[in-house]
Amino acid sequence: MKSRVIREINRIKKLLGGESKNIAIITHVNPDGDAIGSCLALGRILSSLGHHTGIITPNMYPDFLKWMPGNDQITIYSNARKAARELIEKADIIFCIDFNDLSRIKEINDLVDKSSALKVLIDHHPTERYFAGVVYCDINTSSTAELVFDFIQELGFEKAIDKESATCIFAGIMTDTGCFSFNSSIPHTYRVVAKLLEYGIDKDRAYYQVYDNFSPDRMRLLGYALNDKMEIIQEYHTAIISLTREEQKRYHFQPGDSEGFVNYPLSVKGIRFSAFFIEKEDIIKISFRSKGSFAVNRFAESHFNGGGHLNASGGEFKGTIETALNIFRDLLAQYHKELTDEWL
Ligand code: 5GP
Ligand code: MN
Repeated sequence: MKSRVIREINRIKKLLGGESKNIAIITHVNPDGDAIGSCLALGRILSSLGHHTGIITPNMYPDFLKWMPGNDQITIYSNARKAARELIEKADIIFCIDFNDLSRIKEINDLVDKSSALKVLIDHHPTERYFAGVVYCDINTSSTAELVFDFIQELGFEKAIDKESATCIFAGIMTDTGCFSFNSSIPHTYRVVAKLLEYGIDKDRAYYQVYDNFSPDRMRLLGYALNDKMEIIQEYHTAIISLTREEQKRYHFQPGDSEGFVNYPLSVKGIRFSAFFIEKEDIIKISFRSKGSFAVNRFAESHFNGGGHLNASGGEFKGTIETALNIFRDLLAQYHKELTDEWL
């Protein structure tokens, strides 16, 4: 099955191969390793081709993503609105990275929508509609970072890749595949990783910067979440973890501290659907994960104003965390058949 959607690639090839352009590279709110790695790699590669590039994230991201080469050149819109706005307003080209719906960039949405710059979409999330003039998308690719590598190769600019950009691409692939445990069954991913290793990247360092870099508080919060807060609903092969603001405060919560919590219950025998609810200032943020064919992107879209991938999605809820949890528990009966079908 051909899943790669490529549009107007020659147009962007010509532009990037020509005279210097102002380029804004934008990724989604609450950026993850794939978002940051992809933007930094692309930014570095395009700069080395002679373009003026600026990377913008809608908001801050966790400390364990701040080690990647070029991190200090990222403009965080929520901290530096004016600078971010200027980068977008003067851009000839805007790269939209690791999202396909402008609502994912929150307040920057309007600026990008209004801009007359050529928009280039590089992404691996499902969609029926592409808002950009140039598209390089594939829902069957492990990560947007892998697509960035393919995109650069396809354009014939692979000589512009160096050890630093290769490191960022590797970090994106590593984090979006949970260290090659999911979204990573296609041989091409490993061919790309093999090429990245040839640039001399330190893969072990990339691993420990992301996964062995937690505070003691974060580890204790994980212990608390699993010991005291994990709810197993055997009947529906489902697990829930939730964290209130008071609980976060107790463990001196820092952005990113709950990253990955949603995955743990999937290691419980028989659990194939895991949901994690966390109380934020104005909303309840929810993460969903599944094993097998249960489509958590459809679930998030239908009930929690969200979306994502088949086995990893997210959404949000306006209201109390108790209400969100009750709605979630009540919904499970509707999905009884899908959640209990034979699948292994
Ligand atoms: P996480 O649970 O790690 O925050 O997100 C997992 C995946 O779900 C992300 O890769 C992203 O694609 C998607 N996702 C998370 N939150 C939202 C949301 O609020 N809206 C949409 N459309 N997708 C989301
Ligand atoms: Mn991604």
